[in-house]
Amino acid sequence: SRDAGGSSDPLVELADVEFGYTATPVVEDISLRIDPGEYVAIVGPNGSGKSTLMKLILGLLRPDEGAARLFGEPAHAFDDGARIGYVAQHASASKEMPITVREVVKMGRFPHVGFGRLSAEDHRIVDEALATVGMSDFADRRVTKLSGGQRQRAFIARALAGEADLLVLDEPTVGVDAESVDAFYDLLESLNEEGITILLIEHDLGAVTDHARRVVCLNREVYFDGPTDEFVDSDALARAFGTAASFAGGSGSSSGTGGSGGGRP
Ligand code: ADP
Repeated sequence: SRDAGGSSDPLVELADVEFGYTATPVVEDISLRIDPGEYVAIVGPNGSGKSTLMKLILGLLRPDEGAARLFGEPAHAFDDGARIGYVAQHASASKEMPITVREVVKMGRFPHVGFGRLSAEDHRIVDEALATVGMSDFADRRVTKLSGGQRQRAFIARALAGEADLLVLDEPTVGVDAESVDAFYDLLESLNEEGITILLIEHDLGAVTDHARRVVCLNREVYFDGPTDEFVDSDALARAFGTAASFAGGSGSSSGTGGSGGGRP
């Protein structure tokens, strides 16, 4: 389904979106369109609204103002979950869920088979997904026994098994050892070359400038949206982050009310 005729309908479309958990908006004036085949990184300081934006895109939150569409449908009503592969930060398999890598990847087929059994073809797709992410040798290992990078690969394989068109990753290399990070981004790049659209929330600016083709720089509003090389040459980063801004370490202080830690109202 991924490259079904060169349709240029956007996968994601936000129009003048505003959202707040309270009366104060945490994102506003957000208009954003992501087309098939793009590789987009969303960057911004802690508390700048990146995760909120992601939830709006995925339809997990509904805009207070404006509209969010996903695969052409209102995002909150979109229900073809297999088209989206979501890789969370610390993609932690819960400790109470000691399942194997293969079992995780098989889950990607469930939306396609309903409550039916997986066919030989489903199993072939699972094996292929494991091979693509380099996890064939770990198929029978419990997810809880994997390194951070291996775990993220397993969740990407689940998305591949589901034949996702859009891969959404929220700071996917947090907790991944440094030697594995480059290989992880190489994998994303090759998946993108095969036509999978990638939307990445990332605090590591080096990873963004090395890999993403488009950057959306956010701090409540969009400060920059365009090609990565233009972003590097712009002052958007300094403006969005303010004077104390730095991507390094990803531990800049949170802007906005409530702070970054336990400060949820
Ligand atoms: P980022 O992902 O860029 O760190 P978030 O989208 O998590 O930013 O947060 C944006 C703002 O919204 C922050 O001020 C944060 O404290 C606030 N916020 C996030 N989630 C909630 C929530 N569930 N309830 C209330 N406020 C929240």
